[in-house]
Amino acid sequence: MAELQDALGADSVLTDPDVTAAYARDQAMLAPAGTPAAVVLPRSTDDVVAVLRTASRHGVPVVPRGAGSGLAGSSNAVDGAITLVMTRMDAVLEVSPADRLAVVQPGVVNKALRDAVAGAGLFYPPDPSSYDWCTIGGNLSTNSGGLCCVKYGVTTDYVLGLEVVLADGRVLRTGRRTVKGVAGYDLARLFVGSEGTLGVITEATLALRPAPQRPVTLAATFATTAQTGEVVERVVTTGLVPSLLEVMDNTCICAVDDLLKADLDRSAHALLVAQSDAGGEAAAREIEALAALCREAGADLVHTTDDPTEGDLLLQARRMALPALEQLGSTLIDDVAVPRSRIAEFLDGCDAVAAARALTIGVVGHAGDGNMHPTICFDPADADQRQRAFGAFDDILELGLSLGGTITGEHGVGAIKVDWLEREIGPVALDVHRAIKDALDPAGLLNPGKVFRRAAVRDLAAVGELGGR
Ligand SMILES: Cc1cc2nc3c(=O)[nH]c(=O)nc-3n(C[C@H](O)[C@H](O)[C@H](O)COP(=O)(O)OP(=O)(O)OC[C@H]3O[C@@H](n4cnc5c(N)ncnc54)[C@H](O)[C@@H]3O)c2cc1C
Repeated sequence: MAELQDALGADSVLTDPDVTAAYARDQAMLAPAGTPAAVVLPRSTDDVVAVLRTASRHGVPVVPRGAGSGLAGSSNAVDGAITLVMTRMDAVLEVSPADRLAVVQPGVVNKALRDAVAGAGLFYPPDPSSYDWCTIGGNLSTNSGGLCCVKYGVTTDYVLGLEVVLADGRVLRTGRRTVKGVAGYDLARLFVGSEGTLGVITEATLALRPAPQRPVTLAATFATTAQTGEVVERVVTTGLVPSLLEVMDNTCICAVDDLLKADLDRSAHALLVAQSDAGGEAAAREIEALAALCREAGADLVHTTDDPTEGDLLLQARRMALPALEQLGSTLIDDVAVPRSRIAEFLDGCDAVAAARALTIGVVGHAGDGNMHPTICFDPADADQRQRAFGAFDDILELGLSLGGTITGEHGVGAIKVDWLEREIGPVALDVHRAIKDALDPAGLLNPGKVFRRAAVRDLAAVGELGGR
């Protein structure tokens, strides 16, 4: 602690338990969290180097953390560890319209970057719903998606280069500023989605796009999930590429209506919200084609608007789905992505899980890319409900895998799906994960216990390491 205070200054090293407790967990209520020995807030790459050198010299684990908006317990504290909070490194270092890129520090809030580049007529597309408080470092480390992935892809699609401080304090600069470049392994993308287990990102060079055009928005309601699934499938097969295509089920519709008094159709089984930002006539044509697909699938109501304020209100209903579901109880938020042709089966499967476990489960999701967030609402004080809720969480992961999907589309494995990773990726891929981790962090100090176990449980027990790394 004294070494850290000497290197960074006393105001960068917090040890008051009442203060450090605020950094102990993210937004995933079921994830386990320990107690950090200290919370450290670096101001520069040199500070991060000093922290990692000190930590590796003393064998102290380090948990990198952005805003703590994660939904998988990925930045949850580990007992006795340093929680390294990156939010003071929040500068947009460069915006280059000529090279169409930005260079940023990891603590920049997603919305701040979007605002910073908008002035130059540019656009940073990845837009998690938490975009007004999550950081770029967190987005990179979880490979965040968002509402406009269906057209623009996810965070990794915008990463050109990274500066990363490795576990032993060495600084790795990898990647490029060029549009193309294939020199060596793609190390920059190795760190994307690695959830703070391979290094601490201290700078990122990110590709930008021209600012999107004024959007045209569609909302459509359906009496069955099959109809919703049919529309999504036909969007794909007819080659339409809306900039956003989101779905909410009846539980979400009613919860949002209760919260926002938005006059939504509470009898609808599903609500689709779509946007096109193709610009002018092209956007109007794209939304009209989508409206025709909805009508052919038997939509009860189809509404379109080119008024951006009305469009924002419709999107607001979608963005408020999780806060609205939180009014129904504590929530376990799942994050399963399924092939787009299987969305209707997945939604029906979630209804079946809700009925079998006698629980309320609202499903909101990025229909355009098949990434669904079934959200289990329950009372954690009721032991029986709690057990059923955790059971339903696992049922939904099982359902997703059985449909050819993945256990996490964007939130990450974190601390809550460690037991599920091998089931999805298999033993060979898990061995490769372990080999990469061992090469970059041989002492296992970076974010221990997240994503996967470094050795099989039986091996850990044999060397008396259980509960450690
Ligand atoms: C209401 C709500 C809506 C959300 N909607 C979405 C959504 O639409 N799409 C989506 O993808 N996610 C969504 N999320 C989840 C979350 O916001 C994202 O995962 C986000 O990227 C986390 O950013 P953060 O700054 O809060 O990171 P944290 O939660 O603090 O950390 C996340 C991970 O990143 C690591 N990390 C953070 N900074 C660094 C760094 N500099 N170097 C190395 N590792 C680092 C941490 O160790 C941890 O593993 C939502 C969350 C909420 C609460």
